[in-house]
Amino acid sequence: MKISYTDRVLHFKQPAGTSRGVYTTHHSYYVRIEQDGVVGIGECSVLPDLSSDTMPAKRYEQILNKVCGFVEKTGGIPYEMLRPYPSILFGFETAFAQMDAKGSTALFDTPFSRGEEGITINGLVWMGTFEEMYARMEEKLKAGFRCVKLKIGAIDWQKEIALIKHIRQYFSRDQIELRVDANGGFTPENAMSRLEELSRYDIHSIEQPIRQHQWREMARLCRESPLPIALDEELIGVNQPDMKRRLLEEIRPAYIVLKPSLHGGMMGTREWISLAQERGIGSWITSALESNIGLNAVAQLCADVYGPGITMPQGLGTGLLYTDNIDMPLEIRGDKLWTIQNEHHVAE
Ligand SMILES: [Mg+2]
Repeated sequence: MKISYTDRVLHFKQPAGTSRGVYTTHHSYYVRIEQDGVVGIGECSVLPDLSSDTMPAKRYEQILNKVCGFVEKTGGIPYEMLRPYPSILFGFETAFAQMDAKGSTALFDTPFSRGEEGITINGLVWMGTFEEMYARMEEKLKAGFRCVKLKIGAIDWQKEIALIKHIRQYFSRDQIELRVDANGGFTPENAMSRLEELSRYDIHSIEQPIRQHQWREMARLCRESPLPIALDEELIGVNQPDMKRRLLEEIRPAYIVLKPSLHGGMMGTREWISLAQERGIGSWITSALESNIGLNAVAQLCADVYGPGITMPQGLGTGLLYTDNIDMPLEIRGDKLWTIQNEHHVAE
């Protein structure tokens, strides 16, 4: 077994706003495993300041080297050792899954990976001015999206709530499902009144209304909110099963939003989903600014965990973000992400 890695800087078409600032480039590492002529490649993608395994590049590469050595020697992934490093775990899991699939990027055998079924995704409207957000909203609807996620918490609250009210005047709940993501932008003091305001406009759910690490306040909001609450950043760094159980039981969210690069790789994501299911908590999966290698792995996992016939829109639209993305057989048609390798076979 031969293991190596490379890295690459990807450039955003438009600066990408996240809860921790604006990115113009994205740095990813690619783990490559080769055995008996079969190659598997996985992406290790970290979001600066957001991931629990954010660290200086030199240190990250030291850990990658160490893991490469371990895997080369043992032929397997050191899962427990990698719990604190979800992005590295996800990269190795992806590479191994591709090896198991004999080098195919169809990592798991699903209708999605065979190109028979698309995964419904939500459109994403980034933070911006009222005018920009409104224009992007219209664009998404025209493209065929039935679920749009709005990033709120960036512009003036009164403007944001006016935008949402305006959108609801033109598009009913049946036409468009609206999700909002506050990225921790509310405070424990103003959150409840804002949730009540939002609930007048048929919002499906709100992600992370207040900053993470305020379990008691978040639990109170989940109990009293008229709007279902989804946890996202809250899950970052919660890597041990006991802690996951405690978090779900103490906060009791309506949903959790899972990003494999941030929330425990494939193993950790599957673990979160089953712990949530046992407690009647819903979930969906989203990508986290990975390039197409990571995005493909996130989508393949999603199809394997929830499919076939996924109805809950997932957050898998980030593949269009980069000017210099890696080529993968992925395509967005209408509001669904598809793999297109099956069509190539038919065409041949
Ligand atoms: Mg979020």
